[in-house]
Amino acid sequence: DTTLATAADTAATADVDPACTAAAPLPVLGRDVRVPLVTGGEVTYAALDYAASAPALQRVWDDVAAYAPYYGSVHRGAGYLSQLSTDLFENSRKTVAEFLGCREADQVVFTRSTTDSLNLLAGVLPADTRVFVFETEHHASLLPWEQRSDLTVTYLDAPGTPQQAVDTLEKALATREPYGPALVCVTGASNVTGELWPVRELAAAAHAHGARIVLDAAQLAPHHPVDIADLDVDWVAFSGHKLYAPFGAGVLAGRADWLQAAEPYLAGGGASRTVARREDGGVAVEWHTTAARHEAGSPNVIGVYAIASACKALTEAGFDTLVARERELIAKVRAGLAEVPEVKVLSLFGDDADRVGVLSFVVEGWNSSHFAAALSAEYGIGVRDGLFCAHPLVRTLLGSDPQDPGACGAPEGRGTSLNAIRVSFGAGTPD
Ligand code: PLP
Repeated sequence: DTTLATAADTAATADVDPACTAAAPLPVLGRDVRVPLVTGGEVTYAALDYAASAPALQRVWDDVAAYAPYYGSVHRGAGYLSQLSTDLFENSRKTVAEFLGCREADQVVFTRSTTDSLNLLAGVLPADTRVFVFETEHHASLLPWEQRSDLTVTYLDAPGTPQQAVDTLEKALATREPYGPALVCVTGASNVTGELWPVRELAAAAHAHGARIVLDAAQLAPHHPVDIADLDVDWVAFSGHKLYAPFGAGVLAGRADWLQAAEPYLAGGGASRTVARREDGGVAVEWHTTAARHEAGSPNVIGVYAIASACKALTEAGFDTLVARERELIAKVRAGLAEVPEVKVLSLFGDDADRVGVLSFVVEGWNSSHFAAALSAEYGIGVRDGLFCAHPLVRTLLGSDPQDPGACGAPEGRGTSLNAIRVSFGAGTPD
């Protein structure tokens, strides 16, 4: 069957075809939605909420459509379709490892999302690990560490510059007591300001003080190349649905030792190598020491295949084009907003900070939720409003009391004046 053969070939070609490395365009789906306006008539919807979930790349859709009718169980069947699915699944792992520039000993674990990946990592940290995290993080990277009572979490104040971030971390790590296992968790690009964090420098600081570091690349990976070896981070986490592969899968990639020394994230079939009754009546389990250890149950093979397809499409198109295009669009948005004196763009690192295609602002005299609703109803522009799952950061940026939970009375701070508006874009965003 040629369709199956195409799907198998696509998955098997872990290497990028040199003929395709020219800056190819990256068409996305959903560009043709017409929406009614309250003022009458209709317009083509402008999706400016890529930071929440990016639209699927056409390539991802095509690859998934070719494979989806033929999915089968992974690692569990002798039949042709099970074998095909297993091949696609394991080749996808190789593709993701290549996309992230993984080192020989790294493992790629498939999860549900960035949130899931970071919770998994929290579960495998050695007992009594000290965790260092900036208060500016997304809740997915801020909160999982609190789930374990033996971990001590140090929250670092929001820095005013990238260098200040490095200095703050160095100081906190150097003075930590007692000196034992430590983990730094940092986001590569903020989901609120879009600003790039000095990941390489933070990794160097962490390692210099005997700590490990995990990179939350949920917002970085869709916009910039992420090379785990080059950045010298220990783990990277990201989500498919922000990487133009909206099918409910995510990735945790990096050092195998802590992953394999810990109990499985989920107990069940697929994670266990052998299970036998013990003489005392219980069961003896030998767990896998591969990524499968943390992938119990039937995996989301379509979501994983979609991620691999997106990784290939982005690699083939080249990030240079995407980065240049997003810089152009950010400059355009900033220039437009600068013409409105009531607008304040939110930033930790100042006007010159490099950022991905994500930008938040407030409009003096306007409730941000009302403003966002008006953009949708009157112009057909879809943005996000709220506190963006980064409540302490947004409060700091807005100058409101970071300890006041009152600002979040409504879900996600919507409907209060203490919230902001976010525009975000990427591949396929027109002028
Ligand atoms: N980290 C960052 C920086 C994010 O922006 C997000 C989502 O917005 C997440 C983590 C969580 O991603 P997910 O909801 O896919 O788990």
